[in-house]
Amino acid sequence: MIKIMSDAMKSVRIAAMEELIGTEIKVLDKGFVRLIDYMGDDAAIVQAARVSYGAGTKTVNEDAGLINYLMRHRHTSPFEMCEIKLHVKMPIFIARQWLRHRTANVNELSGRYSVINNESYLPEIEELCVQSKGNKQGRDVQIAEERAKQIQQYMQDHANETFEQYDNMINNDNLARELSRITLPQSTYTEMYWKIDLHNLLHFISLRNKPNAQKEIRDFADVIAEQIVKIWVPHSYNAFMNYKMNAVTFSGVEMAELSQLLDKEKISAFIEANSKAKGELREMCEKLQAMLNKQ
Ligand SMILES: Cc1cc2nc3c(=O)[nH]c(=O)nc-3n(C[C@H](O)[C@H](O)[C@H](O)COP(=O)(O)OP(=O)(O)OC[C@H]3O[C@@H](n4cnc5c(N)ncnc54)[C@H](O)[C@@H]3O)c2cc1C
Repeated sequence: MIKIMSDAMKSVRIAAMEELIGTEIKVLDKGFVRLIDYMGDDAAIVQAARVSYGAGTKTVNEDAGLINYLMRHRHTSPFEMCEIKLHVKMPIFIARQWLRHRTANVNELSGRYSVINNESYLPEIEELCVQSKGNKQGRDVQIAEERAKQIQQYMQDHANETFEQYDNMINNDNLARELSRITLPQSTYTEMYWKIDLHNLLHFISLRNKPNAQKEIRDFADVIAEQIVKIWVPHSYNAFMNYKMNAVTFSGVEMAELSQLLDKEKISAFIEANSKAKGELREMCEKLQAMLNKQ
């Protein structure tokens, strides 16, 4: 039996992540994200990517370069080598959006088994905004403050009333919990354990930390990205920000339009000057050439 061990094969523990385990990071008024466990790090991603030619981890710079390359070229499977398990508490209307991400493993609190806590989400006054005209799924400017206060009070009263009835049905009528719960509002908090690999987590963040996503799920996605992923896999986080979150894609029609707006001579000169370039610069020249060809 031959055993080959390298440092990259040892179970990885990251000091800042160890410190974070168990800590509730507050989101919204009563929600949280809590790190339960994690597997792998940036080195695990490069180790998996290099398996084809048997080389282990190289220098930090080479590793970061390889992660950039993988992210840029959508070579996604090495990112699946890292996994994370979170305990999340969110309002039901956010859980409904969250659970659309099918590539995670989930175990949610059961309203059939447990009595649900009297906890519901109450938006801040400044979040009570009018329907957006441009984005049919979004909100616009804040409602007049006086009216916003009344609406907030109504939301609170409604939640209190339904929870009072819920308690009555459970405690005085002994109505089954699975039926008593059906009157509770969508703002009621639920909890789940959520385990996902890094590739699919980044996909989740890319969809839910964008301005067109609902503000409340954006808050969760932002906490996960900035307070967990960034310290867990910093090179992957940087690559993700650069090549996904801060990148822009143009359609064929848009590229043709764009090529009309830009100085073609300057672009051709740039391509010519970098004709021997390698890596990212070469890829940029190829993209610029493709745009010129669209005219
Ligand atoms: C801003 C916003 C608005 C939205 N509005 C609505 C709405 O109005 N109504 C609504 O119903 N949904 C809505 N959604 C949900 C959306 O349509 C997706 O279901 C959700 O974002 C999950 O995306 P996903 O399928 O890529 O992710 P995941 O389920 O995590 O899947 C990741 C990837 O795995 C692959 N995959 C997973 N499962 C399958 C499968 N069964 N077959 C083939 N490929 C699969 C796909 O490539 C997919 O992209 C909205 C999402 C966003 C971000």
